Amino acid sequence: MKKNIKDLDYKEVTALINELGEKEYRAKQLFIWLYEKKITCFSEMTNFSKELRSRFDEMFVVSPLVLEDRQISGIDGTEKFLFRTLDNHFIESVLIRSDGNDEGRLTICISSQVGCPMGCKFCETAKIGFKRNLSTGEILDQICHVRRITGLSNNNIVFMGMGEPFMNYDNVLKAADIMNYTFGFHLSVRKITISTCGIMPAIERFIDEKRPYNMALSLNDTEPEKRLIFMPVEKKYPFKSIASMLNNKFPVSRNRLTIEYIMRKDNISTEDARRLKKMFKYARIKLNLIPLNSGNHELPIPDKSEIEAFVNELEIMNVPVTIRKSMGSDISGACGQLSGKKYKLNNSSREQQC
Ligand code: SAH
Repeated sequence: MKKNIKDLDYKEVTALINELGEKEYRAKQLFIWLYEKKITCFSEMTNFSKELRSRFDEMFVVSPLVLEDRQISGIDGTEKFLFRTLDNHFIESVLIRSDGNDEGRLTICISSQVGCPMGCKFCETAKIGFKRNLSTGEILDQICHVRRITGLSNNNIVFMGMGEPFMNYDNVLKAADIMNYTFGFHLSVRKITISTCGIMPAIERFIDEKRPYNMALSLNDTEPEKRLIFMPVEKKYPFKSIASMLNNKFPVSRNRLTIEYIMRKDNISTEDARRLKKMFKYARIKLNLIPLNSGNHELPIPDKSEIEAFVNELEIMNVPVTIRKSMGSDISGACGQLSGKKYKLNNSSREQQC
């Protein structure tokens, strides 16, 4: 079977180029073809010899994902893309346009796994169960497709789609490094955020390896017993241990750590606000409050005045807070709504492969 060229980083491509007896500058050229020009066939690489192009074609596939469907939100222009992998699994990515608060921000929310093993009760992806990790190339190809199809260049990436990125650490971090190359997407490290439900050893590894990307922790509760009801990961990696590790290790000079917190009716009391403040005494955090999106759950959604009271409490205690806007909910593209389901098979949205 052919390998996926997008699984390779710069070092690996350079070794390949040397093996093929070509000059080293070809490596950078290849990355530019793949990620800047977003080619779909090696034959498009017109500054490579015909022989070299057909060598690549014999050895590699350019694109490990096929676009199956594209939906656009009538409310806010958010776009959801359904992709099929070469072994016939389905994954989704979401393009989120800037809103009034976030001038000029264009975010692609990407998936890191087919399904998810973590079993969070409020999340649609969890219901699929876990199929497999995505390869580095499959992670990167989501961005190639979205950019090519829309003609837009995103300046922000969040690993908040399907899957738990820190259960696929190596492929995710390799993809983030490739996103950062100047010859390719050239995305700033500050604009790449990896979100985790709290895989403690991977968080420690991420910090110890001094990875420069933003990290977001999905906390969602301030009491262990309650969190355990919604997030089974709490059993193996209790958030209190994670918080004390972060208080010890999360260096002051780093970007602030984002704490994601889904607001339910029963987790936004004054006590919750106080516990949040106390929990992260030494780690610099910013709190991102997420309105609970609907799905296959019956969890109670708080009303506006309850949310305002919670935000007010946090602000008095000087905890930096932002509220995430739910985008793309009419196309099931908001947080926790991705299921990789084929809602319809719209042949016209399928792309031609070469
Ligand atoms: N597995 C990773 C990334 C995917 S989920 C993680 O857990 O962080 C991305 C974010 O969406 C998480 O913060 C998660 O808590 C949130 N989320 C999941 N289901 C949701 C729902 N129904 N409503 C609002 N946010 C949800």
